[in-house]
Amino acid sequence: MRLRHKPHAKDKLLEHQQFVVKDPETMKGKWNERFGKAQPLHIEIGCGKGQFIIEMAKRHPEINFIGIELQTSVIVSVLEKQIEAELPNLQLLQVDARELKSYFEKNEVDRIYLTFSDPWPKNRHEKRRLTYKTFLSVYETILKPKGELHFKTDNQGLFEYSLTSFSHYGALLTDVYLDLHTSDVEENVMTEYEEKFSKKGNRIYKAVVSFT
Ligand code: SAM
Repeated sequence: MRLRHKPHAKDKLLEHQQFVVKDPETMKGKWNERFGKAQPLHIEIGCGKGQFIIEMAKRHPEINFIGIELQTSVIVSVLEKQIEAELPNLQLLQVDARELKSYFEKNEVDRIYLTFSDPWPKNRHEKRRLTYKTFLSVYETILKPKGELHFKTDNQGLFEYSLTSFSHYGALLTDVYLDLHTSDVEENVMTEYEEKFSKKGNRIYKAVVSFT
């Protein structure tokens, strides 16, 4: 993700607390109260500029969505889209995925989307990969027993690493797509990265994982 310095990003997030949750730890176990309706909760980790989560929230008013992004200067782009769209089923969280257990109760989340995560190809950076075992343990805790992790990437190295990591962790691989765009899937909403890299000819990989 190319980061542009956006000096007013922080202020903008603070000005729109109806969309960007300021004290997410106070919502732990109570996310349904934050939305108009109590309904299934899907979160995207590393939502970038938000093309995927905005489109998903538009298509699926029967689901509550939370877009999670570490970088202030990036999540502000999702906020700008949400100020236009005013989707009642979308909230944004500017936090680090490694802290998710502070913000979500055990078994609170129905689905996690992990989209085009940074590959961190060097071995010494393995622990930073969002499919490293410590992250899987966080996902297992906050997901409902039948909840799913949907992981998409164009990076073959990260995909292979992740399949091994899921397997070593003891997670269950429900679906594996080695070429998502030529596969028969019910719905595939593209992220910004997915659009960019598939246009370049990169293959898109996907795995669906559960923990029970
Ligand atoms: N998902 C988007 C897409 O497919 O277009 C963005 C992909 S970009 C390569 C990865 C994003 O994940 C970046 O915006 C980065 O800031 C975010 N990210 C990386 N580590 C994170 C973490 N620990 N917690 C939350 N977001 C993170």
